Amino acid sequence: MATAIYPGSFDPITNGHLDVAARAARLFDRVILAVARNSSKSGLFELDQRVGLIQQAIADLPGVEVSQFEGLLVNYARSIGAGTVIRGLRAVSDFEYEFQMALMNRQLAPGVETIFLMPRQEYTYLSSRLVKEVAGLGGAIEDFVPVAVADALRRRFPQSDVAGVSSAGDAG
Ligand code: ADP
Repeated sequence: MATAIYPGSFDPITNGHLDVAARAARLFDRVILAVARNSSKSGLFELDQRVGLIQQAIADLPGVEVSQFEGLLVNYARSIGAGTVIRGLRAVSDFEYEFQMALMNRQLAPGVETIFLMPRQEYTYLSSRLVKEVAGLGGAIEDFVPVAVADALRRRFPQSDVAGVSSAGDAG
């Protein structure tokens, strides 16, 4: 049973993350999206909420599961029997940090391999940070995130009527 772990903050999960998860699911029997608990980095959504949103988003992706972890990624990967770490590469700007991380993880755990997957081209500009920024400013984010995440963002930023802004744009 080949298991891969796809770690990240997923604050919140976007269609780019989902695209990478779906690609990984075609390569592995099990793909576990692992939400990193990072005490020094507080996100927009609580950890449990991020996990819940992922659960809804992956419901129709067979073989994909969600979990959360704390501490060293490679230790967690080994503890669940995952021999592969999946990371997404959007642009050259992702490369340097991802490359360093992959080599550090290899040093820490030579048996754990990192694989990079590229999303569909239209998701290469997508990041959780940008989606939050757009949502906070009242922009339409429906094309970028799963339905449950769009709903959660709307509840989070009630002052910005996301649908209203988009239809006003259509009218004008
Ligand atoms: P982290 O805080 O660990 O970077 P993220 O949740 O931002 O966590 O991202 C997790 C992984 O998913 C990273 O490898 C990141 O490069 C990748 N990723 C994020 N957004 C996209 C996207 N739109 N397309 C492809 N990969 C993505």
